[in-house]
Amino acid sequence: MAKVFLKPRRARPFWFGHPWIFSGAIGRVKGQLKNGCVTEVFDSEGRRIGEGFWNENSQIRVRLVALEAERPLDIDLLVKRIDRAIALRHDVLALPARTNAYRLVHAESDGLPGLVVDRIGDWLVVQLSALGMVPFLDLLLDHLEERLAPRGIVERASGAAEEEGLEREEGVLRGHAPGGPVEVEEDGVRFLCDPVTGQKTGFFSDQRENRRALSPLAKDRDVLDAFSYVGGFGLAMANAGAKSVRCVDSSEPALELLQRGIELNDVADRVTADKGNVLRVLDHDRKDGRTYDLVVLDPPKLVRKRSGLERGLGLYYEINLKAVRVLRPGGVLVTCSCSQHVTEEVFDEMLGSVAKEAEVRLQQIHRGGQAPDHPILLPHDEGRYLQCSAFRVLPQGRDA
Ligand code: SAH
Repeated sequence: MAKVFLKPRRARPFWFGHPWIFSGAIGRVKGQLKNGCVTEVFDSEGRRIGEGFWNENSQIRVRLVALEAERPLDIDLLVKRIDRAIALRHDVLALPARTNAYRLVHAESDGLPGLVVDRIGDWLVVQLSALGMVPFLDLLLDHLEERLAPRGIVERASGAAEEEGLEREEGVLRGHAPGGPVEVEEDGVRFLCDPVTGQKTGFFSDQRENRRALSPLAKDRDVLDAFSYVGGFGLAMANAGAKSVRCVDSSEPALELLQRGIELNDVADRVTADKGNVLRVLDHDRKDGRTYDLVVLDPPKLVRKRSGLERGLGLYYEINLKAVRVLRPGGVLVTCSCSQHVTEEVFDEMLGSVAKEAEVRLQQIHRGGQAPDHPILLPHDEGRYLQCSAFRVLPQGRDA
């Protein structure tokens, strides 16, 4: 097996299991390395740290998979990690009792770099973002079929495919495709989603705990669910007794699924699905004097690379400012970011600027992150990406 030696003083995070070894940390290489192969990793003095996947196409040259005590990196190890991942969801978190839409495998965070597996009803949806996982995929799918007996396993593209040199096509890997939208249930709320044509893997289960924590705040309130997708927050809030829920999204297919979800939950008298650009909709609402008691902002990832941080923060600022301006005094702003590069500190600072500009005070009443089926395996802090905070929005002024 080829060997990778790190530069002096660059090995420290990897002894603790950090999985990403960037090109800058690599000193020299001994032997033949092929992209996607397994390699041993040593520090500069020749002490073995573990084994990982090599890929010269990627800035992440090695994805460390097995520390010394976990070696060798082979199919048996990966299968055990799949079992451990399933055990977290089924035995520790008891998710199947609450929902049939959850993340079974969360890549690095389950010791399976580059592999995401979501359960969507009776289907599994796979996303690959590491070349080194490809040679193991067939046996891992065999194991998933044996353990979970899905009606089909579907592959969806991942954002990282190009950088990794992954040539994969979307499609059915096992069994058959659902042949249309799939109904899933989460905490008693029904959703229609499409694992084959929907966004990402079809459903955003990472917001589950935030939906559960925040839905009660919607009771008897007028709600705007901005960036609603198939209605994750909106339908949960309607079921929790919201007086009215207006869902807004720019995606026609998402709104069609939402419309059917509205009917499934029998809330058509209180929930609407509007097509529009949230920024424009908020401008119109402000002009028309239309206001809400609670606004949910769950935009797509607005910062993809660290270099886009400033621009993305500008967008978060704009959306949040517009949202605050359509809230009634004392109303609640639920605001999210799924950009890994936007830390809590930076996000709060942006909200501080929003508060100043809008002349309000923001009183935090909820701070949440990704649901625990999207865990973070220390010290891989890059696995932390979702924030969901709620604030009571208080006007400035002594009589408010
Ligand atoms: N809140 C949802 C997930 C939102 S995903 C849930 O709980 O399931 C982000 C959504 O924003 C996507 O559905 C996408 O279609 C939508 N979107 C992206 N840009 C938009 C824009 N400018 N205006 C309205 N919707 C937008």
